[in-house]
Amino acid sequence: AKGAGRNVVRFFDPSLLAQMRARAELETDLRLGLPRDELVLYYQPVVDAGGATIAAEALVRWQHPQRGLLAPGEFIELAEQSGLILALGRWVLDAACRQLAQWAGQPGLRELSVSVNVSARQFRQSGFAQEVLAAVQASGARPERLRLELTESLMLSDIEESIAKMAYLRAQGVSFSLDDFGTGYSSLSYLKRLPLDQLKIDRTFVRDVLSDPNDAAIVRTILALAQSLDLGVVAEGVETDSQLEFLRQHGCPAFQGYLFGRPVPAALLESSLLPSAA
Ligand code: C2E
Ligand code: CA
Ligand code: CA
Ligand code: CA
Repeated sequence: AKGAGRNVVRFFDPSLLAQMRARAELETDLRLGLPRDELVLYYQPVVDAGGATIAAEALVRWQHPQRGLLAPGEFIELAEQSGLILALGRWVLDAACRQLAQWAGQPGLRELSVSVNVSARQFRQSGFAQEVLAAVQASGARPERLRLELTESLMLSDIEESIAKMAYLRAQGVSFSLDDFGTGYSSLSYLKRLPLDQLKIDRTFVRDVLSDPNDAAIVRTILALAQSLDLGVVAEGVETDSQLEFLRQHGCPAFQGYLFGRPVPAALLESSLLPSAA
């Protein structure tokens, strides 16, 4: 066994070591950066069939002191693996609720709902529901305006417990979306049992909806499914007028994507929604 260990060391790839060092460094940076408020929420509009902005999805960014603004793809997985996702998730919930409460006091913005992404690990914590309600209460936000986005992977673990948590929060007014719908393994019976309000059609299906008949069929099926289960739907990743046209023709009621706006800081979203002073 000792000899095998030596072999492992001998064949160890030095670039892998460098990668591990960089990861460990980024993890330390995140651990320190969290309490220093280096995270920031960007907001992306969700629009209805008439083009009105009805909601905003909160998407986290990290203003790293040396590396600049980092997208979630660069640190969420690291946060999941290190457990920092719990502190990060709490920060996001608090910040999104504070934003919601602030918008509730402004004409022209008070109708907005805010969607918050919840990681599986965060949702599975025993105190998750209390954490959400604490954030809502501390901020003064209306729970009816808060939507939590979950992914299918999270349902696989303990469906009964997931249902109980969701039902409890829903009774307080919070609503739920199933994010990236179509990419996971939800069976239809799961879907029927989960106390959901909305499905979000993953943008990988929207992307090729005009050129790939399979994707078109999937999108139509999700829309029909949502309708028969009485769920709302948002199509993600809408980038072109022709994608929008297809989705509209098939009865999709809400859209999100670069066609309507990229994720931006709250102040920028506000100025795009409020009539400019004139
Ligand atoms: P998601 O929840 O599916 O969020 C949508 C992602 O698609 C965002 O990427 C958004 O910028 C991007 N997007 C929106 N419209 C378009 C479009 O028209 N075209 C294309 N190509 N992309 C579009 P972002 O902000 O980089 O976030 C990536 C992922 O990171 C999110 O995917 C979500 O899973 C995760 N994430 C973001 N914020 C949080 C958070 O606060 N907590 C947790 N746990 N995860 C988060
Ligand atoms: Ca999402
Ligand atoms: Ca999504
Ligand atoms: Ca996605």
